[in-house]
Formats: sequence, C-alpha cells, structure tokens
Amino acid sequence: MKLSKKNLDQRLNHVYDAVIVGGGAAGLSAAIYLARYRLSCLVIEKGRGRSFWMQELRNYLGLHPTTPGRDLLQQGEQYIQELGADHLRGFVEDVVDEGDSFAIKVKVGKADSIYPVFRAKYVIAASGIIDHLPQLADMQNVYDYAGYNLHVCLICDGYEIRDGRCGLFVGSEGAINTAFVLNWFTPYITVLTNGTVQVGEAMRQKLQEHGYPLIETPIARLLGHDHTMTGVQFADGSTIELDTGLVAMGSHYYNDYLKGLPLSWDGENLVTDEMCRTSHPRIFALGDLKRGLNQVSIAVADGTLAATAIWRDIRRASPPRRWEENLALVEAPATVRTP
Ligand code: FAD
Ligand code: FAD
Repeated sequence: MKLSKKNLDQRLNHVYDAVIVGGGAAGLSAAIYLARYRLSCLVIEKGRGRSFWMQELRNYLGLHPTTPGRDLLQQGEQYIQELGADHLRGFVEDVVDEGDSFAIKVKVGKADSIYPVFRAKYVIAASGIIDHLPQLADMQNVYDYAGYNLHVCLICDGYEIRDGRCGLFVGSEGAINTAFVLNWFTPYITVLTNGTVQVGEAMRQKLQEHGYPLIETPIARLLGHDHTMTGVQFADGSTIELDTGLVAMGSHYYNDYLKGLPLSWDGENLVTDEMCRTSHPRIFALGDLKRGLNQVSIAVADGTLAATAIWRDIRRASPPRRWEENLALVEAPATVRTP
C-alpha cells in the first residue's frame, strides 16, 4: 500500500518484519523478495537518490542500454505494492534498537512535517550515497550535463569515455590518481581542480610524464548544449574543448541514522558478511552503502541475499504450518473407536 500522511497511522501499531531505508535498486529488490517470502515490509524513500539520477543504465543484462533509472524505480514501486509491501515517501532520521524490534523515526512532508515512528524486527539499510559535483556559481549549469556525458562512475561509463578528450574534475590531490585508471579507456585526459586543490611536486611530475595537462584556474562554466558538454570556460576567459568528463570528487554517504548503533564500518561503508548482514544480526546493509562495487547489478543481488537471510531467520524460529484438516481426520476415527 502507498502510505502517506493521511493513512500511515494505520501502520503505527504494526511491527513489520523489515523496514527498508531507501527505495533505490537495492531496497526495491529486497522488498520484492521479502514480499514474495510472505513477510511484511515497508520501504521508506526520500526521493532523488542515485537510481533516480542515473540517466542510462548501460550494463544491466536484459535491459536496453538507454533504460533510465527512473524506469526501474517506477516498475519496482508498482510491483512491490502489487505484492502487498508498503511504500512511504519520507526521510529516515533515526533508528533505535529496542531489543526485540527497532524504532524507526521518519520525517514525512517538507512542509508541515510529521514524525511518525515505525517498528520492525529487521532493518535493511539501502540508503546509498550521492556524488559530490564541481561547485560552480550556477549549479544548474552542472546539472545540465551531470549523468549525461559528464560521468560520475568509471566502472559504469569508462566505455562511454573511450578515446575521448576527457576532463577529470577533482576535489583532492588523491583523486588525481583516478587519471591513471581512466587512462585504460582514454589517454586524452586534462585534470581540472577548479582552483580548490593543492597539488604537490611529485603529482605534477607524474602528470607531466603521462602528458596530462593540469589546469588549476577556477571554472566559470561548462560549455555545451542539449545535455552534451563540449568544453569548459575558465575564470580568466580561456576555454578548452572536451568530448566528455568524469567527476572524481567523492560522495556523501546517507548513513547518519545508523551512527548511534554499534556497527562495523570501513570508512563510511558498512562491513557485511556474504549475505549482507552487518555486525548487528538484525541489520543488513545493501548496495552502495556497503563495502563493495557500486553497481546496480550488485545492489539488486544484495536485496536478494538480505531478504533470503531474513526469511531463513524468521522461518526457522516459527512453528511449522500443519495441515490441520488432515490431522482432524486422523483423530476422528480414533474418537469413534473409543466409545
Ligand atoms: P540508490 O539507488 O542511491 O538508492 C538509495 C535510496 O535511498 C535513494 O533513492 C535515496 O533517496 C534513499 N535515501 C537515502 N537516505 C535516505 C533516508 N535517510 N531516508 C529515506 N530514504 C533515503 N550503475 C550501474 O550499474 N550502471 C550504470 O550505468 C550506472 N550509471 C550511473 C550513472 C549515474 C549518473 C549515477 C549517479 C550512478 C550510476 N550507477 C550506475 C550507479 C548506480 O546508480 C548505483 O550503484 C545504484 O543506484 C545503487 O543502488 P542503491 O539502492 O544502493 O542506492
Ligand atoms: P544458467 O542460466 O544455467 O547458464 C549456464 C549455461 O551453461 C547454460 O545455458 C548451459 O547450457 C551452459 N553449459 C553448461 N555446461 C556447458 C559446457 N560444458 N559447455 C558449454 N555450455 C555449457 N531464478 C530467478 O532469479 N527467478 C526466477 O523466477 C527463476 N525461475 C526459474 C524457473 C525455472 C524453470 C528454472 C529452471 C530456473 C529458474 N531460476 C529463477 C533460476 C535461474 O534460472 C538460475 O539461477 C540462473 O539461470 C543461473 O544463471 P547461470 O548463468 O549461473 O546458469
């Protein structure tokens, strides 16, 4: 059922088998499997995560390479509701371990917000990350190209960059090392710091040895049309032409709501076992939020694994369902035989 401010009070006394934080590729996949295992679940999604910004999912078997992430979200949200799962637009602010269950505090509505608390035996953290982008005076100028030919993921889109003149947008000296992986796909790399990075002598030397220009002048704007970036104009008025770009500026991790819980972290990523279980036996972490590859194929498989582990736990702790009518038949003749 689609939950909203109007009807969510119907669920406040219910203890879900699982609440899933984040309704992207990983969270929706988990919900499909949980619902098909006949477990109750609620997906809470704030809107506009990475699955939403992915303009073309180019490497997923069975889907056309121009499929936008929005199509996956639409199809997934519709399917989980057909299967009986709940979906709520809201932002999870906090998760508290109350022993047998968790209390999940959510902010619903940007204006006149309400703060309902849902309860669940298991929590699935599928809230992902979001990419930092170059900070320009006019951010709309960046959004016009980000996710189109201004890429954010080398594994996803290295192939699209192949042998093109590529601007590598960095926010730290360490990120410049991306150039030495990107060069598998193209050697025509220009490193752009937007005037924000201190670059040491050793790195300058290494770039020179590879023939990759380093431009440290602040960027005035990206040039292009129709979501195709064709170059960069700098604050001093100079320009360069580009065919494509890659942003390597790190990410924001949506994990604040987990920070009060005793979990194992690898930096900002959660550490999990092979079934996506964290160091807490009833908290699972999926997709980009957990340690591993940030890919839709991985996120979808993670949802399958976590839901199956939760089903196993709950099933093994439940009494078996007996065919009561047959048991009654077996007992009935015995009753007749003993007058
Ligand atoms: P997400 O899809 O990010 O889902 C997490 C969800 O949680 C988000 O919708 C977010 O809104 C929500 N959320 C976060 N915090 C909260 C909160 N506190 N409360 C409620 N909801 C919350 N991968 C590929 O495999 N192939 C590609 O071609 C490809 N191209 C990409 C292109 C772009 C431009 C981008 C940005 C990414 C691309 N990726 C691609 C990567 C892919 O999008 C991610 O690996 C995938 O979306 C991860 O799935 P996820 O469910 O872990 O995270
Ligand atoms: P396969 O798809 O079996 O591919 C292995 C291939 O290797 C085969 O095509 C085989 O012909 C070939 N091969 C084997 N030996 C050799 C050799 N020596 N030389 C050359 N080729 C060889 N999974 C789901 O997720 N959802 C479902 O709803 C679902 N329904 C299913 C329904 C049915 C009827 C069946 C049979 C399976 C279903 N599955 C489902 C399971 C799913 O099909 C498998 O998990 C999936 O196909 C595994 O992929 P794979 O590539 O490992 O193996």
